[in-house]
Amino acid sequence: MSKVIIIGAGGVGNVVCHKCAQSPAIFSEIILASRTLEKCHSIAQTVKEKTGQAIKTYAIDADDVAAVTELLKKEKPELLINVALPYQDLSLMDACLNAGVHYLDTANYEPPHEAKFEYKWQWAYQERFKEAGLTALLGSGFDPGVTNVFCAYAQKHLFDSIETIDILDANAGDHGYPFATNFNPEINIREITQKGRYWENGKWVEAEPMSIHQKYTFPVVGEQDAYLLYHEELESLIENITGLKRIRFWMTFSEKYLTHLKVLENVGMTSIEPIEIKGQKIQPIEFLKSVLPDPASLGERTQGKTCIGCDITGIKDGQKKRIFIYNVCDHQSCYQEVLSQAISYTTGVPARLGGEMILKNHWKKPGVWNMEQMDPDPFMEGLMAYGLPWEVIDLPLK
Ligand code: NDP
Repeated sequence: MSKVIIIGAGGVGNVVCHKCAQSPAIFSEIILASRTLEKCHSIAQTVKEKTGQAIKTYAIDADDVAAVTELLKKEKPELLINVALPYQDLSLMDACLNAGVHYLDTANYEPPHEAKFEYKWQWAYQERFKEAGLTALLGSGFDPGVTNVFCAYAQKHLFDSIETIDILDANAGDHGYPFATNFNPEINIREITQKGRYWENGKWVEAEPMSIHQKYTFPVVGEQDAYLLYHEELESLIENITGLKRIRFWMTFSEKYLTHLKVLENVGMTSIEPIEIKGQKIQPIEFLKSVLPDPASLGERTQGKTCIGCDITGIKDGQKKRIFIYNVCDHQSCYQEVLSQAISYTTGVPARLGGEMILKNHWKKPGVWNMEQMDPDPFMEGLMAYGLPWEVIDLPLK
């Protein structure tokens, strides 16, 4: 029986609230705090209707360490689940240290004025969390998150040594709009307009954005165009998966999506450099976000499925082998359950599950940790139980 505070009333926050409220034996009290109080109220209302659970709400600026510390000291939750934006990670970690609260997030820290995400800022908190006897679990979404745990599970049970990992994220859903992003547009566009980067033979290899492409045949959703991106889990997995020779991350995009993105980039709309309009400084990408559909509104319209998994090669019992470990998630089933599309669902369920891992002491370990550093088994069981069933298939060697 534990009290949890969820920060961020967006698409993912909505799912985390629903999924925590479905398990009152674990999350006995739930608080939702975000910048806009009405968004908290509206989530609390639908959760009440769907599950009968009451959620207490607060308006909070998560960048304000003193205000968050005060709220945490007043409410005394055991765990803070950060599903605001990556910009708030450090201030929320500071507030957790001040108030003695365990911490969990789904995306690594990014400085607001530099499109660059790295774990170094959060890994620097290792000693402080250790000394405080608090757990900070980083990246407990799907990718990063479940994909890291898939790798840890493969390392523990399926291989004697892993050689290559390709993480593949396919969204074969259609929301019917000419262009929209499935999660926070600013974070999404910042991620995919960066240079591509993968790791091979001990070195990072860089490529122009979206310049490396393959056709990949996924289970259930079939052949998709997958583009190589840099993604944050690569940085921790190269540290924690032993013997690795190469790791890459791929995401699928339709031609229509890429054409819109190219045009927006060409006219400067994806830039994070502030420009002055009528005496006001504004980042073009922030403006773009305000004219695009709210990702939280896509759920009802989105049809189709996601398939996210890891294509892994390595050695087992002296033989080379290749597997794909994956989850398939249906957008409309998610909407029926928690009024959300599958992208928020596949992030919110692991956030709730990571929380359970800490609260039930499976993963309570003072310090700052990435998911693959923990025992994958209880988490893999939880995925089956809480809505993200997974499968492993053998693939022919390339
Ligand atoms: P949204 O933009 O839908 O929601 C973010 C919420 O955070 C909004 O409600 C926003 O409030 C609130 N917020 C932003 N800044 C502050 C602040 N300073 N103080 C308080 N609240 C704030 O994003 P998503 O729900 O789609 O994503 C949430 C997180 O999940 C992001 O960090 C994203 O990167 C991560 N993510 C991780 C994935 C994974 O697989 N690991 C996949 C998808 C997302 P307001 O609406 O009032 O502005």
